[in-house]
Amino acid sequence: MAKVSRPAIASARPAAEHVGVANILVVEDEPDLNALLCEQLAKDGHRITGVFDGIEAVRRIDAGGIDLVLLDWMLPLLDGPGVLREVRKRSLVPVIMLTARGTDLDVVDGLEAGADDYLAKPVHIRVLRARIAAMLRRAGATDRLHPANGALVIGAGNIRVDPENRFAERAGRELELTPLEFELLHLFCANPGRTFSRDFLLERLWSDDEDVSARTVDTHIQRLRKKLGDADTTLQTVWGVGYRLRVS
Ligand code: CA
Repeated sequence: MAKVSRPAIASARPAAEHVGVANILVVEDEPDLNALLCEQLAKDGHRITGVFDGIEAVRRIDAGGIDLVLLDWMLPLLDGPGVLREVRKRSLVPVIMLTARGTDLDVVDGLEAGADDYLAKPVHIRVLRARIAAMLRRAGATDRLHPANGALVIGAGNIRVDPENRFAERAGRELELTPLEFELLHLFCANPGRTFSRDFLLERLWSDDEDVSARTVDTHIQRLRKKLGDADTTLQTVWGVGYRLRVS
């Protein structure tokens, strides 16, 4: 059986001391809008960094310490979805996508690429501030329940995961999981609704020296689904991207 390394996602913890003040990265190539966003968000006490292209955005996020990213869709060098795909291989940092196009298809594309929320331009600052506050609250709550933090029991829908006792159940029925399946379920339950790419799961759950591919992830997800007792409604396939836990 595949060797399991513990998910090491502690780096995704918010850098700010509390949810009220956050380090926010504004990625917007239009100078006036970039300046306006930075100025307005700083009024809430947040520490704001503004960057103007996708490559610089990835570099800043990789450097760490960012609590939330405001990401424009159309950017020079690397577009918003490209930034997301790159960042989501390594990081769970919350991302709010800005789109000027605003069609439903764009929204789906953005969410499937790993955005947590989206806003259509023109941006209404009051709406944006409310979304940011909600996102930071959610990220704080997720962080407290995060697998990397150890012992807390996590509930998602009728699934309960107890990492300290390596115990998982659904609707009161114990699930007999392999260590790898347990880690997968733990990660999904700690981040309900969030899409994880196959690359991200491979990087977090398998060690470097193992010969694994995206198919390996699919195989383990299929086994986990069977044990959860349904085909695909709980662990949903996000086509072309990966998987997410749907909690109704
Ligand atoms: Ca733009």
